[in-house]
Amino acid sequence: MTTLEIKQAVKRYPNGALAVKGVDVTVEDGELVVFVGPSGCGKSTLLRMVAGLESVTEGEIVLDGRLVNEVEPANRNIAMVFQNYALYPHMSVYKNLAYGLKNRGTPKAEIDAKVREAAKLLQIGDFLERKPSQLSGGQRQRVAMGRAIVRDPAIFLFDEPLSNLDAKLRNQMRLEIKRLQRRLGTAAIYVTHDQVEAMTLADRIVVLNNGEIEQIGTPAQVYGAPASTFVASFIGAPP
Ligand code: ADP
Ligand code: MG
Repeated sequence: MTTLEIKQAVKRYPNGALAVKGVDVTVEDGELVVFVGPSGCGKSTLLRMVAGLESVTEGEIVLDGRLVNEVEPANRNIAMVFQNYALYPHMSVYKNLAYGLKNRGTPKAEIDAKVREAAKLLQIGDFLERKPSQLSGGQRQRVAMGRAIVRDPAIFLFDEPLSNLDAKLRNQMRLEIKRLQRRLGTAAIYVTHDQVEAMTLADRIVVLNNGEIEQIGTPAQVYGAPASTFVASFIGAPP
């Protein structure tokens, strides 16, 4: 069972910019929560704090009872998927998938089983010997997701992972992400500025504006009963 608690999280950057102004969200086991809001509203900052990649100015972020920034980076049971994939260009797909497990000292046979299982789930089993440069954008995105899956994380963090893909592929990958998340039953936070993406993916939506929460609810609640004019215009409720 995984629970992530974001408690009154505040982020002030060293230059004084107040990017997150006291955010409270709990993500329950198996839940897919989408943080949606316009560019600059603090989505990536919040996600990086959850990942322990950014210090928390005030408040707490607690994963399964432990403050994330008190857990050694190698032991944080968190996997993040970015829009720019960050694959190792000189390594094969197989090695890209195996890399994190190898660093953890996972036995070779176990690495092999996990890599092949993830590759099968993501339908990239035929490309294991290719380099990232020999793959399409959608295939690269699958490899990035495979790298997250093999680690068996307590939670997936997605930061606009599909924004480099064309519209058709984006729709397809969005459905696949949802299917995979359901199948694995792993909690996830998915960050996007795209309202349609938020509505299709989310169990619950967190609408952010200028570092603050405007509304938290199911897609139906947020769409049908927007809590503010900001939510109404951003989500595009009917007149
Ligand atoms: P989003 O992901 O929603 O577009 P960000 O979290 O990237 O938003 O940024 C939120 C705010 O914090 C913006 O005003 C941005 O300019 C500012 N910001 C982001 N990163 C830094 C940084 N490293 N230093 C100072 N300000 C930053
Ligand atoms: Mg961002």
